[in-house]
Amino acid sequence: MILEESEFRQRVAGCPVCGAGSAARVKLNDVRTHPRFPAALPSILSWLSCQGCGHVFTEFQWTAAGLAHVFSATREEQDPNFNPEAERATWAPVIEQCQGLLAIPDQFFLGDQAPTWVDVGCGSGGLISTAAEFGFRAVGLDLRAHIVQSLTAQGYQVLHQDLLALPEDFRAHVLSFFDVLEHLPAPIAALNKAAQILHPGGVLALSCPNRETSTWAQLERLNRNVYWGEFEHYHNFAGSQMVRLMRERGFAFRRYRVSSRYKACMEIYFVKTA
Ligand SMILES: [Zn+2]
Repeated sequence: MILEESEFRQRVAGCPVCGAGSAARVKLNDVRTHPRFPAALPSILSWLSCQGCGHVFTEFQWTAAGLAHVFSATREEQDPNFNPEAERATWAPVIEQCQGLLAIPDQFFLGDQAPTWVDVGCGSGGLISTAAEFGFRAVGLDLRAHIVQSLTAQGYQVLHQDLLALPEDFRAHVLSFFDVLEHLPAPIAALNKAAQILHPGGVLALSCPNRETSTWAQLERLNRNVYWGEFEHYHNFAGSQMVRLMRERGFAFRRYRVSSRYKACMEIYFVKTA
């Protein structure tokens, strides 16, 4: 089968994690029957495994024209069913983890000295609104204009920009990527930027699917692993891989948790040591 580039997708030049040019195909998946898949896009997804570092990633990434279709098919916003109480219950344990790892005095949580939390890809705003309740100066980043407008109108600080566009002298105490890294064309650039932005002792929290879980193995055995069909994702990470990548960037591994939000997903917490 010949897989072509098109106006909607381009072939990645090498492994998005280590840059190696050699990779083996691990999965071909036709997602034409996926209920949200836009009919205009090429429907066969190809997944590769890097022969340098073992990273699992898509052979193609969407171009701007392709992404316009992807975003229109997956438009999510703060709908009338948005349930703040359910969001608080979901995010409070995450925030408690970060609060416990952040070694700063209580008075920082008062007034102008509030520690800064940057949530990359803040979506419906459940995390930043709860972090604000906990006393953080919460800043959300999102690339979808309707999300930024909606949350700004509710009084939250949300920037319509990429993490990489934050100024070099911007600093944060907590930085979170919840269910975001697997969507990024260049996740390593984002992790490097996180290392630059965080104060020493700052906390990095992330979640994404983990291909080293029992759930993942079972889905593979049953040939029902939906992650091969997630057309918005470019990566399938592993827990041990994330720990290694963050150690290389000056972070100490602190805690691993099972994510309650998605199947086979992990949450990992790191502290910046230098
Ligand atoms: Zn690699």
